[in-house]
Parts: sequence; structure tokens; C-alpha cells
Amino acid sequence: MAPRMERFVSPGKGNGLRSTARIKRGELVYSAEPLASCVSNRLARDVCHRCFTRRETLLRCSQCKTARYCNATCQKQAWSSHKRECKCLQNLLPRIPTDSVRLAARLIFALLKTSKGSSEELYTLEEHESHLNSMSEQKEQGLSQLASMLEMYLQPEIPDLAQEMTSALPSSCQEPLSLIAKVTCNCFTISDAELQEIGVGLYPSLSLLNHDCRPNCVMVFEGTKLQLRAVRDINPEEELTISYIETLSLTEDRQSQLEDQYHFTCHCQRCDSQDKDGLMLSGEEATWRLLKEALPRLEGQKADSDWQALLQSCSHLLSTVGGDVPDENLYKLRMTDMALDASIHLGHWEEALRYGEQTLPGYRQYFPDPHPVHGVQLMRVGKLQHYLEHDEDALDTFKQAFHIMKLTHGDDHPLTTDLLMKMEECRAEMDQQSSSSH
Ligand SMILES: [Zn+2]
Ligand SMILES: [Zn+2]
Ligand SMILES: [Zn+2]
Repeated sequence: MAPRMERFVSPGKGNGLRSTARIKRGELVYSAEPLASCVSNRLARDVCHRCFTRRETLLRCSQCKTARYCNATCQKQAWSSHKRECKCLQNLLPRIPTDSVRLAARLIFALLKTSKGSSEELYTLEEHESHLNSMSEQKEQGLSQLASMLEMYLQPEIPDLAQEMTSALPSSCQEPLSLIAKVTCNCFTISDAELQEIGVGLYPSLSLLNHDCRPNCVMVFEGTKLQLRAVRDINPEEELTISYIETLSLTEDRQSQLEDQYHFTCHCQRCDSQDKDGLMLSGEEATWRLLKEALPRLEGQKADSDWQALLQSCSHLLSTVGGDVPDENLYKLRMTDMALDASIHLGHWEEALRYGEQTLPGYRQYFPDPHPVHGVQLMRVGKLQHYLEHDEDALDTFKQAFHIMKLTHGDDHPLTTDLLMKMEECRAEMDQQSSSSH
């Protein structure tokens, strides 16, 4: 496939990527394996460290007792990138370094292995922003600690990290501190089909993509392979954009998150027009404020997987205060979503379906373009409808999900295939019912 994108200087934003030809909505723009990647510590026991598949039982590396694999094949394939890491992990046990330190170490091993100049990337690590100059002192201190951790972690394999980096790496990557800064600013979160975060990875060319709160491209993963797809028709030489953050939030909150994490002020059309802010805050403020103020506590319960308490709080608030707040209100939508999560975890299917259906009008409003988050939400609701034998509703919901996912995930993605199968099941069951009722 001819390259469909090229780097250019985007006015006011520095480097960027633009299309080289007309791109239709739903088309694959770019696909890449990471230069380095690693499973999040949080899921280190649940996900294969090679293919990033979630499994009930995984084989454990007998040496570091940290890495886990689907089977001997995955383990064997992982060995060349795990070998040196394995020694470092063993040395530090029972401690395990943070995700960004493990990713930086994997990056260093990968860079030391590849010969210089062999990269086909549009953008090299050397050019990556570290933002060290614009960083607060506190943030820089945090990074310094990570850099010392990195040196300590790599000790068994690379006793003199600074020396080794100076002789083998390009000039702007020789300082452990600037390397770790680059890694934290440029790494991508790798998520699974249900959009749960499972790891982090570096995809150098795609670090050129600039942000827009209503982007024309989205990223979806298949294992660690990143796929960039257009969600709107794109003209030749038009800038390609993604959203760095969750777009379902208020302009003010998106802006402060972008400034804090990515060090820039967003001037996109959505931000300039404060698009949808009014709708997100619909209803009486005195009423929805009660929902807003309860959210941090509920998020804590969710983080602790305290589903019983979470469902109790959500359903209490939603049935008392929530009745007077429109479903589109952002805080009510977030709370309804948490109630959905909690009911699914507790196996309260009828209740889950009620909450799930209640979120859909909001999702439709807030995702005018095809978006993986919207597709996955429809699929969750469709599965509940299907399980509860509301076959006609389920088929309709799955169809809506398919219209989105054939564009965001493509026809060949396992999740799209899974969805088509679910639609077939619904049709077969509906046929069976109509024939048995005659
Ligand atoms: Zn595997
Ligand atoms: Zn190991
Ligand atoms: Zn914006």
C-alpha cells in the first residue's frame, strides 16, 4: 500500500501528519507494530506479555516470575525481547518498576539491537519532544526519580547506562532523564477490544499526529498492532488528527487536561465554540451538582471494584436526584455508566439493561462521528438484550454497532467478526420463534 500520510509543518502546531490522497471514512490510513511495548503492571497476571490477549490461565516465566504467556509459542516468540529484561526483573524482585520505566528499558534494548539508520519511521525518537523545558519543577522531579529507577533496574544488564547510551544512541537520547521524558510524553495506551487499558507502547511515526477534540481519525488495537482509521472523508493534504484524551467532557476540563499532560492549549473548533457544553450541563445546576459532587467517591468504589456499594450509591442517587436531571447531562450519564458497569459485574442483567439503554441517546448526541467508544457501548447493550431474549431489539442494536465498527475497526477486526456472528444468532433465533409459533 502506498503511504497515505506524510509529515508536514502544521501552522501553529509544529510537526504534524497530513494525507497524501483522498481518504474515505472507514479506510485504514496506517497500521504499525510498536517499536517497544509492555503490559501494564496492573494486568501483568491477566494478559499475555507477548500477544496481549487476556486469559484465565497463563504460563509464568520460571525465572522472573513476572512475565506471563498464553503458551510455549508466545513465550518462545517473546524471548528475544524479554531475555535481557528478565535478568533485570529478577534482580529487583519482589519490586516491579512502573510501566514507563519498563517501557523505557525495553526501548533501550530495542535501540541497542537495531543497527542505526534502518528505521523506516517518518519520525525518529531523536526528534521526539521531551517538554523538559516547559515542565513544572515537581513534574521534573518525578521524572528524575523514574530516571534513577531506570538506571537501577538496568544495572544487571547495563552497568553503566549513561556511558552505554552515549556511545550507542543518537545525541538527544543519551540522558536517561530526557529518554524517560520522551517515553512518558509520547507513549500510547494500548487497549483491548472492550477498550480497557492493557499496556503501553511507542509508535514513533504516530507521535506526529496532532490532537483535535473532534478528530478525523481514531486508533484501534489488535493485540499490539495499532490501526489508524479515518472517521470522516479526508481531502488530500488535510491534517490527520486523533484525540489524545476522552472527548466526552467539558471544554474547560479537556483544555486543562491537555495543558497538564501534553503542554499545549487546544484551539480546535469544538473548544472555540464550546461545542455541546450547554447540553452536557442541561438541567438545574442545583440538582445535577449533587450528582457531580458524588462522582469522585463513586470512582473510588469503582477503582476498588466494590460493585455492591457502587451500585447501591448509583441507584440511590439516580432514583432520587437523577429523576429531575435530563439523561444527556454529563454527570448523570457518567453515573448511569457506572451503574451499568456495577450491575454487569454483579450479574443483575435486567438492571444493567435498563441503565445501558438509558445511556444510548447521550452517546448518540456526543459521538456525531463513528467512535469506538460508541460502538462498544452499543455492543454491550446488544449483548444484554440478546441474553434477556429481546432478540428484535438486540438485532437492531447490533446493527447500529456494526455501522460504527465497520468504520472504526474495519471488517476484519475480531470484534467486528464477533458482532456479525451475534447478528446471525439473533436472526436464527427469531426465525426459530416465528416458525414454532405457527
Ligand atoms: Zn499470547
Ligand atoms: Zn522472565
Ligand atoms: Zn479542543
